[in-house]
Amino acid sequence: MRQSRLFTKTRKEAPSDEVSKNAQLLIRGGYIYKEMAGAYVYLPLGLTVFNNIIRVIREEMNALGGQEVTMTALQDPEVWRVSGRWNDDVVDIWFKSQLKAGGEIGFGNTHEEPLTKLMTQYIASYKDLPKYVYQFQTKFRNETRAKSGIMRTREFIMKDLYSFSRNEEEFREFYERCAEAYLSIFKKVGLGDITYRTFASGGSFSKFSDEFQTVSDAGEDIIYIDEEKGIALNEEVKTPEVLADLGIDESNLVQKKSIEVGNIFPLGTKYSAALGLQYKNEAGESVPVVMGSYGIGPGRLMGTVVEALSDEKGIVWPASIAPYLVHVVGLNLDDAATREWADGIYASLTERGVRVLYDDRDLRAGEKFADADLLGMPYRVVASSRGKEEGTFEVVERKTGEMKKVSEAELLGMFTPDEED
Ligand code: ATP
Ligand code: MG
Repeated sequence: MRQSRLFTKTRKEAPSDEVSKNAQLLIRGGYIYKEMAGAYVYLPLGLTVFNNIIRVIREEMNALGGQEVTMTALQDPEVWRVSGRWNDDVVDIWFKSQLKAGGEIGFGNTHEEPLTKLMTQYIASYKDLPKYVYQFQTKFRNETRAKSGIMRTREFIMKDLYSFSRNEEEFREFYERCAEAYLSIFKKVGLGDITYRTFASGGSFSKFSDEFQTVSDAGEDIIYIDEEKGIALNEEVKTPEVLADLGIDESNLVQKKSIEVGNIFPLGTKYSAALGLQYKNEAGESVPVVMGSYGIGPGRLMGTVVEALSDEKGIVWPASIAPYLVHVVGLNLDDAATREWADGIYASLTERGVRVLYDDRDLRAGEKFADADLLGMPYRVVASSRGKEEGTFEVVERKTGEMKKVSEAELLGMFTPDEED
């Protein structure tokens, strides 16, 4: 992609009303645009990162045996009345509206109810189980605190998977596999070292649910970590009984602020019993399906990567989700021969299957370097008139600042398409 063709532009200052680091950097880089509080547009560069994150999640969900669907955002109040969750006193973040044809309608904030109802059409016998259904779909939540940039918005895409199992044992087996898949996702997007599977409150069917918490000062949650035991717990479950249960000595706990990047939740038979999702077991008895729900917000995950990995110069993307792996910065491009040299390396890398952003704009070197640091591609490759004379390119790794000069052949050898992930 030639940078001169991007309709977005970088900016030196973030809007003064934007307090969170993730939104400040992403707006300055032209990754996102703020429509209003709690609602952001993903611009071309931002959408590429977002889609890369979705690809990582989708691969893991498919590997678990998940089957993808897209449900509707519009919600029939009847289904939610059955479970008791239509009432604003029970769920305080509903967006609701009136139908012109008469009657109320809701905008989905989660999808247990409609999916449970849907599955009654397809599950009848123990032979139909287990099943795992997921989607990447828009949720609406009337959040009062929309202050964390793209990490807490009123409209967002969620990956929500729901598991349907015969019994508790079959459910637990999947739940543990999904927890592993989640850890793998957070590792792949560069947050592995600072993300903890965390005991959290479990609701009516289970003592605990599990949150995946990434340590960050930008977080809204407080967790306690026992590094030695490798156990973390949300402050909401830190009681003397739970500590005793888990065999944790309070003096070994370190308190950290953290961001909830994912959440997996045992649902028991709460929704299946309410909405009539039964199956006939091997003895011919009708019993309710055992369910679980498994959420990740790709937008919140993107914001978390920015919060956790950026430095004073800007964003630092891991290669797996960076919009481009290499940022070719052309200098002295008013000289026709140098432009040809820079165009050439852009073409060669692109032909090789490497994802390249090419700064072919007529700007000063300082401005281009500042933009490259702000945008945060893993590698910056400088093509300049001096380099052309020497027959070399300067490569700088964004994360470490490590610099080396390489020939064209060496440069092409550095980035085989297979190594991208
Ligand atoms: P929180 O406790 O932060 O309000 P939650 O417990 O309501 O989140 P879930 O309903 O479990 O979140 O949603 C699953 C995932 O969706 C969360 O782990 C998070 O990654 C993401 N998510 C939740 N709310 C938002 C939001 N308002 N904006 C962006 N992502 C969100
Ligand atoms: Mg939560």
